Amino acid sequence: MNPVYQPEAAAYRDKVKTFLSENLPAGWGGIGQLDGAELEAFVAEWRVTLHASGYLAPNWPSEYGGGGLSALEQVILAEEFAKAGAPMGGPNDVFGIQMLGNTILRWGTEEQKKHYLPRILSGEDVWCQGYSEPNAGSDLSNLGLKAQLDGDQWILNGQKIWTSAGHLADHIFTLARTDPDAPRHKGISFILVDMRQPGIEVRPIKMISGESEFNEVFYTDAVARKEDVIGGVNNGWAVAMTLLGFERGEAAAVSPIRYQAEMDRLLLLAKQYGKADDPRIRQRLAWCYSQVQIMRYLGMRTLTQFLQGHHPGPDAAIGKLFWSEFHKINTELAMDIMGMEGLAPTGRKPSSAFGPDDAGAPNSTNSWAMTFLNARAGTIYAGSSQIQRNITGEMVLGLPKEPRV
Ligand SMILES: Cc1cc2nc3c(=O)[nH]c(=O)nc-3n(C[C@H](O)[C@H](O)[C@H](O)COP(=O)(O)OP(=O)(O)OC[C@H]3O[C@@H](n4cnc5c(N)ncnc54)[C@H](O)[C@@H]3O)c2cc1C
Repeated sequence: MNPVYQPEAAAYRDKVKTFLSENLPAGWGGIGQLDGAELEAFVAEWRVTLHASGYLAPNWPSEYGGGGLSALEQVILAEEFAKAGAPMGGPNDVFGIQMLGNTILRWGTEEQKKHYLPRILSGEDVWCQGYSEPNAGSDLSNLGLKAQLDGDQWILNGQKIWTSAGHLADHIFTLARTDPDAPRHKGISFILVDMRQPGIEVRPIKMISGESEFNEVFYTDAVARKEDVIGGVNNGWAVAMTLLGFERGEAAAVSPIRYQAEMDRLLLLAKQYGKADDPRIRQRLAWCYSQVQIMRYLGMRTLTQFLQGHHPGPDAAIGKLFWSEFHKINTELAMDIMGMEGLAPTGRKPSSAFGPDDAGAPNSTNSWAMTFLNARAGTIYAGSSQIQRNITGEMVLGLPKEPRV
């Protein structure tokens, strides 16, 4: 499980480092040093720089505006960006580029690729993910949002929920039931919907952190063009599963770097609060440190396979389960170290509700308290821990399937 980088890797790594040193502002200390309007302005400008260099969608073919990079180059790029604390895109790019764009490349017609991919990269279309419903989360195939064909357009009625960054998006890729009489997995289609219409209403959901990063989306006679189905009518389940592979699989190279940086900040926090000599805190810190090392080795195993041409399959569930469960525990330790101060947090808040705070973020009580709260959601989104355990048991270890109700 030792990733062996081909000889050309070092030269490519130098190229990426040069790009970063030439394009990041002088005195750059990581995206976590920016906040508010300054942060937003930087990300918007940086996105343009990445697009112009082909780094915004590094794995896409260059004919669609991507970087056309090899697997090895993609890994090096992600590693160097993570080390520098430089973002690889804007807040909705995980949905537009990583999930939808990759899925269109796999399932889309030539016309769909030519129409949608450049608009995703230019930022003309900003995407969010419309999968979950009040009665369809882990059991996604239970989804009930209906789409009926009327002439040359689909009419959609129903509701999605937990739509991350939906308030920032103007398009939503929607799983809809197009054949209510077919077996559950068979009557679903993957439809692209423009949100800028009266039939779509986005309502924010307040999170435990006080932020509203996700939403409910209501469809009332919303319309979509007949041709905006990806992968064929009633074939949406296969398309949806391809996309989830992109959602769950990409973290192996970058997660260990981000969690190591967070571990360094946690050690610093213990020192700042005079707790670094407390044997009970030291024992918990040592445990966290060992978990980050295990995460590093898990990442190396996935990386080794990736560099040999295997894309993460069901075994990506192990990495997801590991980092999300760990993150609940190490952020709880941070709260214990800060004591009462953590209950009235101040200072810069994390810019996103997902994973560790940004590289270079100050060790503020708000940084840790909000990350602690957001970490609770980590074991739910992108497949809950119970579901990751089911996948690992049944699809990786080959254990007998649990009884279905
Ligand atoms: C922060 C956040 C962001 C999200 N963003 C999006 C988004 O942008 N777009 C989107 O479509 N969705 C999004 N989601 C929704 C997410 O995908 C679902 O919350 C998740 O799939 C779980 O579904 P659920 O909430 O309906 O819980 P349920 O599926 O109802 O699960 C409830 C509990 O039962 C357990 N459980 C369910 N089935 C089984 C089983 N077979 N075996 C054992 N245990 C089981 C679960 O593990 C969980 O503990 C987001 C969620 C969060 C928390």
